[in-house]
Amino acid sequence: MADITKIGTFIQSSPHPAWLATAQGHCVYVNPALERLTGLNSEETEQADWRSFLCEEDRGPATASWQGSLTAGAPYRVRVSIRGIDGIATIVDLIAVGHKVDDGTELWLFIGLVIDAASQEQTPSRVPQLQATLNVIPAYAWYALPSGALAFLNERTADYVGLPKDHPLRFGIDTGAAWDSHIPLLHPDDHEDSRRVWSTCLRTGCAGEVTFRVRNGEGGYRWFLSRAEPLLTSDGTVLYWVGVNLDIDDAKRAEQALQRSEAYLAEAERLSRTGSWAWSPVSDNRHYSEECYRVLGFAPGDGTPPPLETVIQRVHPEDQAQCREQVEKAIRDKGDFELHYRIVHPDKRVRNIHCVGHSILDGSGDLVEFVGTVIDVTERKSAEREREKLRLVEADLAHTNRVSTLGEMAASLAHEIKQPIAAAITSANSCIEWLAHEPPNLDRARAAAARIDKYGNRAAEIIDRIRSFYKKSLPQRELVDVNGIILEILTLLDGEANRSSVAVRTELAADLPEIMADRVQLQQVFMNLILNAIEAMRDEGGELTVKSQRQDGQLLFSVIDTGPGLPVGGVDEIFSAFFTTKPQGSGMGLAISRSIVESHGGRLWAAANDGRGATFNFTLPTQVTESSPLVGLNASRMT
Ligand code: ADP
Repeated sequence: MADITKIGTFIQSSPHPAWLATAQGHCVYVNPALERLTGLNSEETEQADWRSFLCEEDRGPATASWQGSLTAGAPYRVRVSIRGIDGIATIVDLIAVGHKVDDGTELWLFIGLVIDAASQEQTPSRVPQLQATLNVIPAYAWYALPSGALAFLNERTADYVGLPKDHPLRFGIDTGAAWDSHIPLLHPDDHEDSRRVWSTCLRTGCAGEVTFRVRNGEGGYRWFLSRAEPLLTSDGTVLYWVGVNLDIDDAKRAEQALQRSEAYLAEAERLSRTGSWAWSPVSDNRHYSEECYRVLGFAPGDGTPPPLETVIQRVHPEDQAQCREQVEKAIRDKGDFELHYRIVHPDKRVRNIHCVGHSILDGSGDLVEFVGTVIDVTERKSAEREREKLRLVEADLAHTNRVSTLGEMAASLAHEIKQPIAAAITSANSCIEWLAHEPPNLDRARAAAARIDKYGNRAAEIIDRIRSFYKKSLPQRELVDVNGIILEILTLLDGEANRSSVAVRTELAADLPEIMADRVQLQQVFMNLILNAIEAMRDEGGELTVKSQRQDGQLLFSVIDTGPGLPVGGVDEIFSAFFTTKPQGSGMGLAISRSIVESHGGRLWAAANDGRGATFNFTLPTQVTESSPLVGLNASRMT
């Protein structure tokens, strides 16, 4: 508001006719000099449109200059005639400048000042007037001599660049400076542009505009839009160059930040082969990002984005119908859509595309447009196919490992099965005998029959377990009780342990939670580790301990033996495929076990015991979320 008071005082005391008007053109204040010139009193001028002071034929050009100035934010100057009290028109120069009043209302005020054209050459009287005008306006303003040398900076500009209070440029004193004396005030990167524009202005005598960064008193820079206008004498020669610098720093920085984030986005789109698009089925307005063009096989930025039908023509003929149908359905339902299709590039390359569209509705629920993405998923698809192949190969390998393990154990498994069958036969014989008694001893016969049932079931159970080992199946996750699996495997390997004089001990944590895992795969891991431990102790016997416990939110399993320990220097190698120290060994057991554990998100490692033997540990997370194929079969021994 201080500004308005200052401007008011300035206008009132001005010897030149002057007014203050709103951005709509209505006068807020008219000074006595103007009232004298026009013969109007303050009641007549209040709220009057300033253009009513002009002769009718000049109102159009004056309005055009004024509107131009409103958009450019620069002062304007126009030669017009004002009809005086005596009916005689006076030719005057109208100089006006608009500025925003900083009272939160975004009100623009224009100061209009008229100078008798005939008095223009009286430069000395105009200079103080010009300096006063430039000092009063809340803008960065300056003027330069016809040579181009900077002659005056208004207070705001001089304070910004940190000029001393007594600097000649604050008073418009000609220092004989060069035409480009202002250049050192600018950012070095902007020197070239500024020189070019300024020298063109000086050469042609025409107004010019340039954006540059001006250094402030502290050495920092802000962006300005600078516009220079020539102030001409009646014979058309340049009297002064008057300029206004608009502070556009915030807008410029916002624009730069936007450009940067657009560049990041374009880079991210390029790396991820994801294009973005928007399409309005109502107006057929289309926007494609650069990557969208590339993904769809068009050259980026070659004119307007191709229409939907042109894109569909690029789609593989077998996929075109479903694309059309789904897009039409999404338009009908005003809903989202998702398409998988192949696109045939002009060079006949076929690419797999995944397209997602999201509908945007207006306030009344009508469809405005779709926005979405197109992703080239060709590599991902072929990787998925390779992963699937790998899964099958690995499942085959794991199966082979199970079958060969069972083959190794054939003798002891036969013994395992024979035992309950022999016990069942014995019980059957005693049952027959108890029935043959006179009278038959039914209680004993019933007890014998119950034993037959028990032994029969036991034999069936063993056969079932062996069968599940032989079965060829793809990995499958279910909730499993790992302690239960350990006990099952120990039962199966009981005969093996006995034959090798190995005493078996378990230390199983009672509070082990069930986890999502592949039952057969976990059986296979325990089978491999326990069998290896038994084999290691085959010659001298020993003790096998299987432990389960919770540790750091995970499950930790350990298979501990008292055998000869790990091969010297081979602690890491034992996990390589085909590494074996056994005459009949395949060297696949540990490699497959590690893959299985890792595919469950766990870790398997071996360590030498303090005393005799080795310990094989593995962890399993309690939350196994995603099923992944067996990974990382290390085949370093194959080469
Ligand atoms: P294979 O049992 O067919 O040899 P594995 O991958 O199961 O294949 O084991 C690789 C090698 O690791 C074995 O040949 C053996 O040298 C070593 N190994 C495995 N378990 C033990 C163990 N408990 N004690 C000592 N060495 C072991």
